Amino acid sequence: MAGKYLVVGAGFSGAVLAHRLAVLLPESHIEVWDEKSHIAGNCYTARNPETGIMVHQYGPHIFNTDKKPIWDFVNQYVQLEPFFHRVHAHVDGKVFSLPINLNTINQFFGEKFCPAQAQEFIREKGDGSIGEPRNFEEQALKFLGAELYQTFFYGYTKKQWGCDPRELPASILKRLPVRFCDNDSYYEHPFVGIPREGYTVLVEKLLQKPNIHLKLNRKFSPGEEISGFDHVFFTGPLDAFFQYKYGRLGYRTVTFEPFVSEGTFQEVAVMNYCEESVPYTRITEHKHFAPWETHSKTICFKEYSKETTEADPPFYPKRLARDKALLKQYRQDAEALGQVSFLGRLGTYRYMDMHHVIGESLEFAQKFSAAVRTGTCPPVFPNQEAFA
Ligand code: UDP
Repeated sequence: MAGKYLVVGAGFSGAVLAHRLAVLLPESHIEVWDEKSHIAGNCYTARNPETGIMVHQYGPHIFNTDKKPIWDFVNQYVQLEPFFHRVHAHVDGKVFSLPINLNTINQFFGEKFCPAQAQEFIREKGDGSIGEPRNFEEQALKFLGAELYQTFFYGYTKKQWGCDPRELPASILKRLPVRFCDNDSYYEHPFVGIPREGYTVLVEKLLQKPNIHLKLNRKFSPGEEISGFDHVFFTGPLDAFFQYKYGRLGYRTVTFEPFVSEGTFQEVAVMNYCEESVPYTRITEHKHFAPWETHSKTICFKEYSKETTEADPPFYPKRLARDKALLKQYRQDAEALGQVSFLGRLGTYRYMDMHHVIGESLEFAQKFSAAVRTGTCPPVFPNQEAFA
């Protein structure tokens, strides 16, 4: 099947898709374009020349999944070093363990509870009058109570998302567990790791196929460019594809302020600053992502969050009520095109983690190649339920 395909975006969604298409449709010619000067999108890692440390240039990325096949898929190309991700919270000069666990509860309330006592205590703190939580704040008040919510979540969330937590979906808070034991792993998933030589090498390996042709610094403009290909896979922002004709979907962007010093700055890779009065959301110390390496210096990023403008790269889809109405319009237009599919965090406007993105691209390549073989219509989006 000698199709000519264009994948727009060399981040995880585009690279995994191109890789699988190259395997499943070996006769095809696949171009991968990225407007950036590098591959790997926001997962891009590079060594900092001054310190020699591998830096997560667009913020911390820790690969975690509950799906062994996805873990194995990544491990075929790079060595994933098992990683225990600890995040601490800095509030009012004190440091607490996250996600909220037995130690956090005991330290914060000055208690010495055992797990069962802590669970009962927090159950009593929770607001029992809330039925099914309708937003982030209700989720927090129902399951954590006002004190923990105000201290650890209210200020951080306002800074991170730039809106009142009542406007945000409960699903954002559900990303984080609450534990009544002393397990302080930030993730629930059994497979957690970081590629020994960073993520860029992984994407490089995925794109190393004779029928994949990579073009960097190559901006895609919809229109005449589509007609040169049998099918286009777009992993950039959905609203950008349509030149924002209905308005802009809400995204938060992130900026980083690096600083270098001798030794080690903090005890963990990520320190969250939960108070609203501190202008940044967190400080990431990159050497902690590679505990198998030794470095005398350190490099940290202070992370600031702000609303995305045309000049900024979008990071976090907000999905407020207004955004969902716009999304419906863009989705209808996308479905009318037929010759273009949309994938990934930006293409489908969803808060996805790396393992979601990889899983969806693998599945999508399978569906697409089956459609090519049977001569049926290829899918436009990987997952229709996501638009509910
Ligand atoms: N959050 C918070 N305080 C914290 C950590 C997280 O309020 O110290 C909230 C915040 O709204 C965040 C959400 O919980 O967006 C999910 O956290 P996660 O660490 O999954 O966010 P990410 O790493 O994707 O930025």
